[in-house]
Amino acid sequence: MVAVTSEKVPTDLEPIFRSRPNLSPEERALVQRAYHFAAEAHRDAKREGGEPFITHPVAVAQILADLRLDTPTLAAALLHDVVEDVEGIEIEHIERDFGAEVARLVDGVTKLKKLPTSTEAMKSGKAGDREAETLRKIFLSMNNDIRVVLIKLADRLHNMRTLGHLPPERQIKKARETLDIFAPLANRLGIWQIKWELEDLSFRYLNPEKYREIATQLAARRAEREAYLETVKARLAKEISALGIPNVHISARPKHIYSIYRKMERKRIPFDQVYDIHALRVIVPEKVQCYQVLGVVHSIWRPVPGEFDDYIAAPKNNFYQSLHTAVVDDQGKTIEVQIRTPEMHEQAEYGIAAHWRYKEGAAHDKAFEEHLRYLRQLIEAATEGVSPADAQEFVSVMRSDVFQNRVYVFTPKGDVIDLPSGATPIDFAYYIHTDVGHRCRGARVNGVQVSLDYRLKSGDRVEIITGKRASPSLDWLNPSLGYIRTSRARSKIKAWFKRVGRENNIALGREVVDRELRRLGLSTKPREEVAALFGFAKVDDFLAAVGYGDISAPSIATKVLEADRKAQREAAAEPLAPSAEAPTRPVNASAGIDIMGDSGMLITLARCCNPVRGDPIVGYITRGKGVTVHRADCPNVINSLESERFINVNWGSSVERAYPVPIVITAYDREGLLRDIGAVAANESINIAELHVQTRNSIASITLTMELESLDQLSRVLAKIEMLPNVIEARRRVV
Ligand code: MN
Repeated sequence: MVAVTSEKVPTDLEPIFRSRPNLSPEERALVQRAYHFAAEAHRDAKREGGEPFITHPVAVAQILADLRLDTPTLAAALLHDVVEDVEGIEIEHIERDFGAEVARLVDGVTKLKKLPTSTEAMKSGKAGDREAETLRKIFLSMNNDIRVVLIKLADRLHNMRTLGHLPPERQIKKARETLDIFAPLANRLGIWQIKWELEDLSFRYLNPEKYREIATQLAARRAEREAYLETVKARLAKEISALGIPNVHISARPKHIYSIYRKMERKRIPFDQVYDIHALRVIVPEKVQCYQVLGVVHSIWRPVPGEFDDYIAAPKNNFYQSLHTAVVDDQGKTIEVQIRTPEMHEQAEYGIAAHWRYKEGAAHDKAFEEHLRYLRQLIEAATEGVSPADAQEFVSVMRSDVFQNRVYVFTPKGDVIDLPSGATPIDFAYYIHTDVGHRCRGARVNGVQVSLDYRLKSGDRVEIITGKRASPSLDWLNPSLGYIRTSRARSKIKAWFKRVGRENNIALGREVVDRELRRLGLSTKPREEVAALFGFAKVDDFLAAVGYGDISAPSIATKVLEADRKAQREAAAEPLAPSAEAPTRPVNASAGIDIMGDSGMLITLARCCNPVRGDPIVGYITRGKGVTVHRADCPNVINSLESERFINVNWGSSVERAYPVPIVITAYDREGLLRDIGAVAANESINIAELHVQTRNSIASITLTMELESLDQLSRVLAKIEMLPNVIEARRRVV
């Protein structure tokens, strides 16, 4: 029996062979062997989506077959993941079974996979180094064999097509990397076909809302658009045929979602305006005919000034060639026209990969070599005497403009975070973690404290100072204040205020208010009354404002005590006559009150109105007692008829105790307790008078009078005393 040598083609490979019908039997055999080797190696492996792993290398090979890459590339594409992913398969196996060329390609792709992680590459502390490092690696491998990079691009393209199976964080990360590195790389290599698909796929994950919006609008108006373009094409075809040029191809150029989006953003125009720009492509056999067609186009429609570009005479640096023009039709619609030859078209669509499409025609190898030489110059710029500055330069050459609109900053650990330019520490905080954003209170950049609206710069090392609890500020949402740049931060802050914020703030505010009232010995005071003091009609609004931090605990104490004093004064308002000689408490003459025209007089504070530092005051000359100081609005002053006895007084510049507050402290008695309380008061420069201690069942009840500079000290000093060991409670004593 004769051995059967022509093995049946596996179903998986049929589309690849359909794309490359002219392969020799040996070439087909190589591809088939590579397929069987890979299928066996990956036989137990599944992709994230659940399908057999072999579908991935097959799809990668298919992309390359459509670009018409050679068979060693197709074989290497089928084998590209085996060394990396399969235990026990070394590059030597590939070399033994498939030869040095295929092995070199597989090895190149395997090494490219080990792209630097952010931390490792960022140690140098320069933003952009990671990208520089990644691109440098890619270009170095390209220097060995450009086909390695083409396999890598095809690999990335298929992974992007199947990105839906990955968890969202990885989708975003991959999409970002693709848009920042691989799409610009495809552009640099001139492979438009891969570039636009990578861009659209990335955009779909990075900005799904906008993507869907544009896609929906495109679909809705497709029929209308196609009908219009048909009439335009017919008109142009008729005019060109008058020139007698054979083999003219006129086609409508498809619009890519990402490029529409970019145009909307760049020109700040709505979808309709971008969409109304129609695009045609004309392909004619000879270069000279391109210029003839240009003349026709400009004779039918009115050219738009400044829109004509001759990329035939002056090719773009990725070797793109075409004539570009834009014209306006009778209805005022703009039509963009590209005119090129089939060779230029191949170059435009497939870039450097076009080389393999013309392998037989040596003429095209010249362009290929030129392209390679150009790319090598880029590599040299990046690898010769590698300094950070060179790396930066290299990246700036490579970057798309998308790339340039971002800043790269570091976490304290050295991880790189990329943010849109104009981003602030708050954007950074929300990028790290929503909770970090909510608790963000301040930031240090490169060790120096900055304001929260600081604009981050590439290379900044950012450290977020967080508070204990979440409390984003409403100001952050105010666009004119410029606190945030990213929509992520905006939506997180909004969500917080919507859901958690108010409830939390009310609960927190209630805690603060109740504690404050208890300290002031006013536990029974209705919260409504306190809210009213601050002008709030609804208690919850007041509590929310307290919880949010708009109203501080000390200011509650101050307001409540002032209101209390006012009420007491009014209740105690006495008839005038001897009133100015009403009970007073003596204050040292240096008590921080300046008396116009005189000094060294005995000064006392009137007991009727208890003036506190900051109150408007007047002095009243009392027989034998010196000067009594009243509040300017004291009824006794206002009603007094003895105007000659009043003198101007001012609160002096020296800080003095002016306000006595009786305090009661409850504590488990211990040695040194009084000393500790004294220390707290001393730290606040508060004088203590009239101290009494009563101990019963080892519970000490300490009453004392604190002479405060101002009322807002009270809350703070009570809180500090309560933090002392053994202290149960410190509050104002209500007499
Ligand atoms: Mn792969």
